[in-house]
Amino acid sequence: MSFRNFKMVSYVVFGRGSFHQLDEILAPHRKGEAPMIFLVDHFFEGKPLLNRVPLRGKDKVILADVTHEPKTTQVDALAKAIKEEFGTISGVIGIGGGSVMDLAKAVSLMMNNPGSSADYQGWDLVKQPGVYKVGIPTLSGTGAEVSRTTVLTGPTRKLGMNSDFTPFDQIVLDPELTKDAPVNQRFYTGMDCYIHCIESLEGTYLNEFSKSYGDKALQLCQKVFVEKDHWDDESDDQLMMASYAGGMSIAYSQVGVAHAVSYGLSYLLGTKHGIGNCIVMNHLEEYYPAGVKEFKYMVEKNNIDIPQGICKGLTDEQFDAMMNVSLGMKPLWENALGKDWEKIMTREKLRALYEKL
Ligand code: NAD
Ligand code: ZN
Repeated sequence: MSFRNFKMVSYVVFGRGSFHQLDEILAPHRKGEAPMIFLVDHFFEGKPLLNRVPLRGKDKVILADVTHEPKTTQVDALAKAIKEEFGTISGVIGIGGGSVMDLAKAVSLMMNNPGSSADYQGWDLVKQPGVYKVGIPTLSGTGAEVSRTTVLTGPTRKLGMNSDFTPFDQIVLDPELTKDAPVNQRFYTGMDCYIHCIESLEGTYLNEFSKSYGDKALQLCQKVFVEKDHWDDESDDQLMMASYAGGMSIAYSQVGVAHAVSYGLSYLLGTKHGIGNCIVMNHLEEYYPAGVKEFKYMVEKNNIDIPQGICKGLTDEQFDAMMNVSLGMKPLWENALGKDWEKIMTREKLRALYEKL
């Protein structure tokens, strides 16, 4: 038996207002004239946060359009544009939700690796470290700030660039930045963390490392979505730490059924990650009875709409495409259902599940 020896984020700062320290944090990583590239979620266009980005010299802000989740073509185009304009850069700073953080990680890697990011979708295919990269979440829940992957939709699949070169060199966890997130978006992204916890804690890969972080993250999610009646500053702090701990839990385990099924929706229908997981979780009583019960309670308590009937009228071909993507996520199924998962999750069974969504 060999145990995963995994690379973590190198530096972490946590605290309300810690974004102020960014200039000081970046200073030692500036290489002469080579600029820092700030990839900022397009949500912040015209917002005060943009004026707080500590630009120096030739630094540049690029607003990232995350209407759709990151694609390999988008990563390649960004990396190419940056190389053409600047040659070399000092680093990439991603400021936004999971989508922008994933874009920043992938662009950093593609500054130093040849070809297309699609060539590196998979496990441990990346050969060279990327440029210095910093992640600054403005939504809490995905765990993208700590993970060793960056989820990309490519020409043939939706799969991450999983590697030891993928984690950020630095993250800045400033809960103030998540303050103005809309209630629905905050819930969908927060539930990504909740669902990570359930899938990790109920999975066959679980060990004490994953369990300790998973228990803590779950407890923090319950504080903000089950116990409290009002959202306050403390809720932003708690959900940000939940996301961090949830991501750490996954480092040694895996996600499960909700994610495996949701990847199929995302690939075919473009359903976004957070809401897609919620749509699937709503129908997983058979696999996660207690988690699904509590999930439904949180949906009701927080007055959230979960779409229904999104697979109505799809063709056999379309169902097949979703099932192929989903069944391709072998480690997720194995974590959820054990080594014999293929006997349990047959195509018929999966089709019936998709039809319910
Ligand atoms: P997101 O990044 O896709 O953003 C959702 C929407 O919220 C966007 O319209 C964005 O502009 C907006 N937004 C961002 N910050 C905001 C704020 N403070 N206030 C208001 N609006 C804001 O959402 P997400 O749920 O954070 O991330 C989902 C993405 O993360 C998916 O692409 C998914 O594949 C990826 N993901 C990655 C990992 C990983 O380990 N790398 C894990 C889970 C999910
Ligand atoms: Zn997720």
